[in-house]
Amino acid sequence: MATNAELFERASRSIPGGVNSPVRAFRSVGGTPRFIARAVGPYVWDAEGKRYIDYVGSWGPAILGHAHPDVVRAVQEAAVHGLSFGAPTEAEIELAELLIQRLPSMEQVRLVSSGTEATMTAIRLARGATGRKKIIKFEGCYHGHADSLLVKAGSGLLTFGNPTSAGVPAEFVEHTLVLDYNDLDGVGAAFEEYGEDIACIIVEPVAGNMNLVKPRAGFLEGLRELCTRHGALLIFDEVMTGFRVGPQGVQGLTGIKPDLTTLAKVIGGGMPVGAFGGSADVMRHIAPLGGVYQAGTLSGNPVAVAAGLATMRLIAAPGFYEHLTAQTRKLAEGLQSRARAAGLAFSADAIGGMFGMYFSAHVPASLAEVSAADVNAFKHFFHAMLDRGVHFAPSAFEAGFVSATHDDAVIEETLDAAEAVFKDMKQ
Ligand code: PLP
Repeated sequence: MATNAELFERASRSIPGGVNSPVRAFRSVGGTPRFIARAVGPYVWDAEGKRYIDYVGSWGPAILGHAHPDVVRAVQEAAVHGLSFGAPTEAEIELAELLIQRLPSMEQVRLVSSGTEATMTAIRLARGATGRKKIIKFEGCYHGHADSLLVKAGSGLLTFGNPTSAGVPAEFVEHTLVLDYNDLDGVGAAFEEYGEDIACIIVEPVAGNMNLVKPRAGFLEGLRELCTRHGALLIFDEVMTGFRVGPQGVQGLTGIKPDLTTLAKVIGGGMPVGAFGGSADVMRHIAPLGGVYQAGTLSGNPVAVAAGLATMRLIAAPGFYEHLTAQTRKLAEGLQSRARAAGLAFSADAIGGMFGMYFSAHVPASLAEVSAADVNAFKHFFHAMLDRGVHFAPSAFEAGFVSATHDDAVIEETLDAAEAVFKDMKQ
């Protein structure tokens, strides 16, 4: 049996950094990534046969726990009938109808294969529909890796951003304005200056890519109001929050209606599915109806759609979100009370099946506040928990995910391990 270290060494010879997505490489916490051999319910097992309670959940999709038998069966049954046709299927209509029915802001939806595709196309659509160039995003929100979105704030308050990735020419991000999350005044000032030319705001309506950061009261409402007033489109990137924080995403919790919504993760149940949708009036700009181009060989893939449909049906069970929310809250509150009892500056927050933990006395409201937390304490906590069989995201800038299979015994086991680690840390 190969060890994790041997596999990492081998992987690093054929795959850059040994991983197919950078955060998996443990660069921000150090050490060796665990190579996963299998997963069931709340658990994953690594290549050495060690079991972990998993709070990564494939970075969000595994809301039913890993390898839910109904989802696995749906995939197997679909696969028997063919893996991909490149032609429309009835199952795609069913998934589209389900999504539209659950999210009233969408009258039409286009299926793609990832969150990146969904957000990249939503931006193109917003520009195509408005005939405007500029977009607003917020520091610390991640919307996938399209060129114009790999950008951080420039030096001035209202200057356009700088690329965060080599290979992205400055010209490609010159129309992306990067503002502080939860700073409505900043958005107001941007509209004062550039209002006529702003095509859209894209926002994680609850941010999960700078740890968990919730919108302040009035922030999302303010974005809605400014977009409406200036003729810009409001894009809720619900790739992470969609069907994760509640049965209708953040838009259901707040009652705010975005013009466009992007989805992925949960709607594919662990298979590659993304989606973007909005009113029929906006969606008519997409090819083949309109001039905004978008396509995909594997879009609406029958096996992926089968997993998504099975997942969407299971999460519609009565009480599903009440249970998920209660379990996640137990975890967050339990972590916070145990850390504070040990005398540590620690906070935790939760919404639906998502949680954040911060080695700071207060729950942060922006990337700057998240960055001020004690990163070394997080690294220590992460590794000590991993040793004890609990798998958190290997970065202090990621939200955590609970599944419906994280029952009381699983949460208690996690909290017992955390209590021991917190006590050690204080010494
Ligand atoms: N948008 C948000 C809010 C995300 O969290 C992510 C991925 O984590 C993406 C977009 C990109 O999705 P994908 O990794 O499926 O391309």
